[in-house]
Amino acid sequence: MIDQDEIFEKKSDLIAIARRCFQQGLQTNAGGNLSVRIENAEAIVIKPSGVGFNECTHENLQIVHLDGTIEASDYKPSKDLGFHLDLYRIRDDINAVVHCHSPWATGYASAGLEIPCLTVQTIEKIGRMPLIPLSGKGGPQTEVEISPVFRDESVVAAVLANHGTIGVGSTLMKAQYLAEIIEETAHIAFVRDTLLAAHGAPKPAAPKFGTAIEAAAG
Ligand SMILES: [Zn+2]
Repeated sequence: MIDQDEIFEKKSDLIAIARRCFQQGLQTNAGGNLSVRIENAEAIVIKPSGVGFNECTHENLQIVHLDGTIEASDYKPSKDLGFHLDLYRIRDDINAVVHCHSPWATGYASAGLEIPCLTVQTIEKIGRMPLIPLSGKGGPQTEVEISPVFRDESVVAAVLANHGTIGVGSTLMKAQYLAEIIEETAHIAFVRDTLLAAHGAPKPAAPKFGTAIEAAAG
């Protein structure tokens, strides 16, 4: 039996983060998805299909067990449910997943380009952002393509070709911060590369260290 106070708290967290993501323009319409692990319950809270980030409520959010069993709900499960569940199964350190279709990052992913980790913050917080190709049949990425990338525990963010981004974390806020940094980095990279092309300038070296402390030690 899952603790009701815990469910209330996790749903409240998810509603707040979903609004933040929507308000920042990282996710419009009913696309994307986010979820959070319910501690000690082998279950998650997740946004159902067809509900926008700005329309999440205590009534429409779903509770799904890690074995795939969905608690009674009037809503259809998300198309992304499979990869969310699998990320929680394969990584104990993942307690939250934010997946959105943020436009700058998805633009890079649709061009088949990895977003370069060109700022010190990106190097400190993310390190690298693997680009995961479409499924073998040319459709959206599922756990088949996504889980192998995240089995490497150093990976906390990835970009899905022609689709969107994934940020994971120990809390919803941390996963959301990554979604924001991915998008911000894609925007910065676009400005840099456009300016370099306009000026015919060579690409400067990326920073090697994310923090002054690491640089001093390195
Ligand atoms: Zn998606």
